[in-house]
Amino acid sequence: MCDSVIEALHEAVGEQANQATFHGYMDECGAPFLRGTIARYYQKRGVDICENEVFISSGASDELGDILDLFDTTSPALVMEPAYPAYVDANVMAGRKVIHLSSGEYNAFLPEPEDVGADIIYICSPNNPTGAVFSKKQLKKWVDYANMTGAVILFDAAYEAFIEDDSLPHSIFEIDGAKQCAIEICSLSKTAGFTGTRLGYTVIPKTLERGNMNVREMWVRNRTTKTNGVSYIIQKGAAAVFSEEGQRQIKENIDVYKSNAKVLMQVFDALGIWYSGGKNAPYIWIKCPQGMNSWEFFDYLLNEIQVVGTPGSGFGACGKGYFRFSAFGETEDTKIAAKRIYDLLKK
Ligand code: PLP
Repeated sequence: MCDSVIEALHEAVGEQANQATFHGYMDECGAPFLRGTIARYYQKRGVDICENEVFISSGASDELGDILDLFDTTSPALVMEPAYPAYVDANVMAGRKVIHLSSGEYNAFLPEPEDVGADIIYICSPNNPTGAVFSKKQLKKWVDYANMTGAVILFDAAYEAFIEDDSLPHSIFEIDGAKQCAIEICSLSKTAGFTGTRLGYTVIPKTLERGNMNVREMWVRNRTTKTNGVSYIIQKGAAAVFSEEGQRQIKENIDVYKSNAKVLMQVFDALGIWYSGGKNAPYIWIKCPQGMNSWEFFDYLLNEIQVVGTPGSGFGACGKGYFRFSAFGETEDTKIAAKRIYDLLKK
């Protein structure tokens, strides 16, 4: 984690040690200082979001499950696959019908809307596991579709900080009409190393209404019932991520992962292996070589060169025959792994 965050966390612990600066229960929807900071983070990027449209959570995964309280169990959910497995599992646990929309190399793993009768639409961009990122034009089609059908888009922006191509959207709210149909769920886990510290945020625009009900207001009611807020200490650490110095420091860390991704991409380029991602995302999604299936390739790498990755088949049926490499490693380890992969597969 970056120095700015660590300093803020220490400071917050110190505050809790003194009666004069002690914080008890926090606001259920998030501390105003952090909600305001995140709203300004959006505003700086030209997205007009206000403080009370931002909700602080203990992580995107927690929120992706909790947010389903807003929907009836008879509302079908559309999951574009390959996908982060929690989307499917959380809906199955809630007894909801899941519609699987597959994608592949033919559409660069970026599917277009299909009229399948879904009330909830998951979009993850940049995508885990494929690293594919929707363009503004592609997202606009989904926004128009949701507004036409009355569906709500759950937009997972957990990897937005990895986008380096300026033309690509970091937020669904960069798209006209999204404030009438989307909820954005974000996380500091990959942006700033908060995987074990836990903090996420959710944006629900005031203008999102369904069935004459205001979704933001319903979420306030839900949060004030079901949580007593996120720890003051962690929220203070999270605010430091958005300071000027914090932003500089997290960018430095993200650049390390980006250079790891480059090292791996060079190997796949040299070997002529098809892949997506790596540029605007920390994941590289490859087609398994020599016709191997995902688990055969996993075993092959593990047994022959002691390198591990994630079999693509775990992300949905259309992930079969693919494999995900992660750039979240030590630079030296990544270089060693890349060389071993090259030496193994060049034969
Ligand atoms: N969303 C996606 C697409 C992820 O890949 C992950 C973690 O891997 C999460 C959400 C979970 O984030 P958090 O750690 O904030 O729960």
